[in-house]
Amino acid sequence: MRKPLIYGNWKMNLNMNESADLIASLLSVKIDYSKVDVGVAPDFCSLSKVAETIREMGYNISVAAQNVSLEEKGAFTGEVSADMVASTGADTVIIGHSERRAIYKETNEEINGKVKAALRNRLHVILCVGESLEEREAGIATETVLYQVGMGLHGINMDRMNNITLAYEPVWAIGTGKTATPADAEEIHANIRGQLKKMYGPVVAEKKVRILYGGSVKPDNVSALMMRDNIDGALVGGGASLDATTFGKLINFNS
Ligand code: PEP
Repeated sequence: MRKPLIYGNWKMNLNMNESADLIASLLSVKIDYSKVDVGVAPDFCSLSKVAETIREMGYNISVAAQNVSLEEKGAFTGEVSADMVASTGADTVIIGHSERRAIYKETNEEINGKVKAALRNRLHVILCVGESLEEREAGIATETVLYQVGMGLHGINMDRMNNITLAYEPVWAIGTGKTATPADAEEIHANIRGQLKKMYGPVVAEKKVRILYGGSVKPDNVSALMMRDNIDGALVGGGASLDATTFGKLINFNS
């Protein structure tokens, strides 16, 4: 049985003080952490503040960076390495988000390099995949997503798969208010799990890797998504993760 995971991606919305306020509000929401795992992804500047607050208050909430450099160290002005992320107290990094792919033109090869850099530095990875509207309309949604999964995990050994979570985020559903129907999402999730089974066998596919859904997840649609066999959680963006009450409702979807 895979424990549900609800992750908030705060994107580039809050400064450090605002992030501190949001995590404090979230920690005051009553959540049964035995039933659900929770994570938040603040901006780089807020990572250590948010991680420290969570640790000081004694909670077990995951903290992720929203991106990472594929380089280890050196003359890469403006980049943030995996070692730097880990030194903030963050435990995870989101890699290959569609905004990184679309706006910053990140390729599958770069994304794979980032996954390897994060794993080398003992960070957990949330690897995002998803098709564009054009790809869905052309009938190549599944093949696009499976290609991204294969490329993103290229060269990653089975023993590292404990540290991988996948997030299926159809690009046309992110921040648009449009959600894939639970049946459509489940179909892609099942295909991703099938691909993991081919790559790593049934134990990794069934027991180790959680597959989150992302794209306009809200308190009123989360339960229908979470009821599906292969949907193990949600990656929630700017809409619903920036308000502690709304995000708390999402986390408490099964209470
Ligand atoms: C996201 O950016 O990962 C996301 C899913 O955004 P939203 O929930 O706003 O659609």
